Amino acid sequence: MSKDLSWLGERLEIDGEFVSAVAYGSGHINETFAATYEMRGAGSEAGSGRRRFIHQRINADVFKDPAALMDNLARVTRHIRGKLEAQGDEDVERRVLTLIASRDGSDRVIDESGGYWRTFAFIEGAATFDVVGTIDQAREVGRAFGEFQRQLIDLGPPPLAFTIPGFHNTPERLRAFRGTVERDVCDRAAAVRDEIDRVEHYADLADRLLGLQRGGEIPLRVVHNDTKINNVLIDDETGEGLCVIDLDTVMPGLVADDFGDLVRTTSCFAREDDRDLSKAVVELPIFEALATGYLSRAASFLSRAEIDSLILGSKLMTYEMVLRFLGDHLAGDTYFRIHHAAEFGQDGITRRIDHPAFVFLDLAGKNFPVFGEGLEGALMIVPHQAGVTHHVGAKDGGQLALDVGCCHGRIPHGMA
Ligand code: ATP
Ligand code: MG
Repeated sequence: MSKDLSWLGERLEIDGEFVSAVAYGSGHINETFAATYEMRGAGSEAGSGRRRFIHQRINADVFKDPAALMDNLARVTRHIRGKLEAQGDEDVERRVLTLIASRDGSDRVIDESGGYWRTFAFIEGAATFDVVGTIDQAREVGRAFGEFQRQLIDLGPPPLAFTIPGFHNTPERLRAFRGTVERDVCDRAAAVRDEIDRVEHYADLADRLLGLQRGGEIPLRVVHNDTKINNVLIDDETGEGLCVIDLDTVMPGLVADDFGDLVRTTSCFAREDDRDLSKAVVELPIFEALATGYLSRAASFLSRAEIDSLILGSKLMTYEMVLRFLGDHLAGDTYFRIHHAAEFGQDGITRRIDHPAFVFLDLAGKNFPVFGEGLEGALMIVPHQAGVTHHVGAKDGGQLALDVGCCHGRIPHGMA
C-alpha cells in the first residue's frame, strides 16, 4: 500500500515529483520506505526519468539520541566515500550509502511529532538476503564487513557517539539478568532453574573481552555492531558484497563483537525461535567462508590479540543472546515476540527455551570443535606464500586452513 510521503519529498533536495512510497525490506527497527520520484532533470521524459529513494524514520524507542546517530552516520559515510573516491572507484554511488540533503542544508528532516527522517539514494541492482544462500555469499558478506571496518580504522577524532550505551557490555547484561532472576516478577524462575544454572556456569565468559580491552590488549575501533547478512547489499549481477547498510549502531566497539555476531547470525540455520534444535549448530563451511572473507580484508590491520579474540566474540555474542532471551522470559516476554508457547520447565534441558542459542551455547562449551574449550587463540596468522593463511585449530589437533591469498579453504578430515 502506498504511503503519501510527498511532504517529505518537498523538503528534500530532490529535483523531482513524489510518485509513491511503499514499506520496504525486512528490517524491524526503523520504518523503511522505497519511494519513487519522477525526476525533472534535463532529458528525463515522463515515465523514463524515475528514480527511487529510501526514506527511513528512525525508531526513537531504540535510539534515544537520533541527532548524534545522524552525525555518526554522516561522518562515516563521508569518510568511506572519500576513501573510495581517492582510490578511483568507479561505482562509488553503490558502494556507500548516499544521504540526500534537505532544502535547509541538513541531512535529516524532523516531522511534526519530532520523528527523525533520513533519505538515501536507492542502490539499484542489489538485494539483501535474510538467510545465507551460498558459500560465496557468506564469503562476500564477511569480506564486506571486514572492508567496512578497514575503511574506518583512520576515522579522525572525536570518537563517534555511543548510539546505544552499553550495547555489548556483557557483564552489565549479566548483572541485569541476575536482577531479573532475583525479582522474578512472573514467578517463572523455579521452572527454569537448570537454565539459570547454565547461564551461571558460563558466567566467567562475560567479562573476558572487555577485560582484554581494559588491559590494553585489544583496542576500541569503529565497528558496525549489527553484522547480520541482511545488512549487506549483494550485487545482482556479480554477487559482490557491495555496500554495508544499517549504520545506526556504528560506534566505538570491539572487532570481535562484529565478527562474533556475524558468526552467530549467519553460520547457523536455525531461526531464533526454531523448534528444530538439531539445526542449532555452526555450519562449518559457512563459518569458514565468513572467516575467510572477513580476514581477507581485516587481517591487514588487526593485531594478533584481536585475531585471537574473534572466537571468544562468537561465544560472547551467543551468550548475550541467551541472557537476553532467558531474561525476557523471566520478565514476562516484554521485548522479544515469542512465536511459540514457551516450554520452559518441561523435557530435557536444551529443549525448554524457545531459543536455539541455548543449544548453540552448550555446543560452544562442549561439543563443537571450532568453539571447543581451549580454542580461543586458535585462529592465527602464519606467513604463507600465497599471502596470509589463517588457521582455526580443531579439537583433534587438525586445522582449518583458510588461505586468504587465493581465497579458498579446506576443512580437515573429521571436522565437517
Ligand atoms: P534492522 O531490522 O536490520 O535493524 P532497519 O530497520 O534498521 O533494519 P535497514 O537495514 O537500514 O533497516 O533497511 C531495511 C532494508 O531496506 C534493507 O534490508 C535493504 O533491503 C533496504 N535498503 C536500505 N537502504 C537501502 C538503499 N540505500 N538502497 C536499497 N535498499 C536499501
Ligand atoms: Mg537491517
